Amino acid sequence: MKNLDIHRPLGLRRVINANGTMTYLGASSVVPAAIEAMCAILPEFVEMDALQAKASRAIATACGSEAGFVTSSCASGIVLAVAAAMTGPDLAAIERLPNAGGLKNEVLILAGHQVHYGAPIEQAIALAGARAMPVGQSTFARRHQLEGAIGARTACALYVVSHHAAQYGMLPLDEFAAVCHARGVPVIVDAASEYDLRGFLAQGADVVLYSAQKFLGGPTAGIVAGPKALIRSAYLQNLGIGRCMKVGKEGIAGTIAALQAWATRDHAAVRQRETEHLALWQSALEQRPGVSTAIEPDPTGNPLDRLKLTVDPAKALITAWDLADALERGEPAVSVRDHEVEHGYFFLDPCNLRGDQAQVVARRLNEELERALLAPAIIATSLEQRRQRRFDALSRWPD
Ligand SMILES: *Cc1c(COP(=O)(O)O)cnc(C)c1O
Repeated sequence: MKNLDIHRPLGLRRVINANGTMTYLGASSVVPAAIEAMCAILPEFVEMDALQAKASRAIATACGSEAGFVTSSCASGIVLAVAAAMTGPDLAAIERLPNAGGLKNEVLILAGHQVHYGAPIEQAIALAGARAMPVGQSTFARRHQLEGAIGARTACALYVVSHHAAQYGMLPLDEFAAVCHARGVPVIVDAASEYDLRGFLAQGADVVLYSAQKFLGGPTAGIVAGPKALIRSAYLQNLGIGRCMKVGKEGIAGTIAALQAWATRDHAAVRQRETEHLALWQSALEQRPGVSTAIEPDPTGNPLDRLKLTVDPAKALITAWDLADALERGEPAVSVRDHEVEHGYFFLDPCNLRGDQAQVVARRLNEELERALLAPAIIATSLEQRRQRRFDALSRWPD
């Protein structure tokens, strides 16, 4: 396939992604098989229900579920799965949503799972016409709290597997699901960026949701997997609130291809390349004053390590966040994983790099660290200013 330069005609900067599969960076680099499938289907007419039935088979094979379908995003998957638990296959109720009159409309969610993935998860629940009912506290959840929260209005429970969620004090999924199932409450698992396609259903999830555009390297889309009746009820929501979350034929075909490519991917070779990137960065930074590095495993157990780069501003003469910003402003822009940067560190994620980008990242780090050592004063923006700058930029958009 021709590699057309899309940045120049659009006047966009080139970005090296050492951050992760971030929506605001265009998620992942889509795998060639998915690109080919999308290009092939785009000029054609197809019967969409039949295409989604093929997706159901592909998802069933990949996830070990009975059925599945593709929607526009994992966030949409939350809305549609919650709606399915409320309406079942009742088309009149489906058309009435988000008016939930007469329907069970409470969704249990552990307080430590109330994540913000670019938007608040409670809002996805609310879009279906339901209400999030938090269970337990931010880092504390016990069986009795979940049992006590289940009532006559409980439609379903939502469980989140993510680095965004509290990583301790939570109920494990199998226990969470057992408590819910004892009272007939279906369990939806948001596993948007987890590599494990089968484990959550095996631990008792009824419906599991993934983003196609994250680790799978598919197009921007959401995967909904589960038992046939519940999946059909979720699919039928496309005649109601799901219309606003429409996925195109290319999204469906691309997701099928990405799932198939995932099954045959040489995961060991990918891991090996990522390990080499980490080693390259670590050795490139070895002699740097005020910079220490450590290899850290992914917090939710995905088979992925990242390099944690801690910056001591007294010796490096720059803060971790100013270093991150300098990399982002550079040419090419290098985006690093900085959501914990107030602690004085950020991560370099190797899983979205191509070609010689790991070397470019190493060179850019050294350039900016060298520049800081030569600067007349410590480069230290206040965190408040930095947050404000990002907010200001959005409030000026599109200018
Ligand atoms: C990314 C993410 C989402 C949203 O997925 P989209 O496909 O971008 O809608 C939802 N939940 C979690 C935990 C995520 O990481």
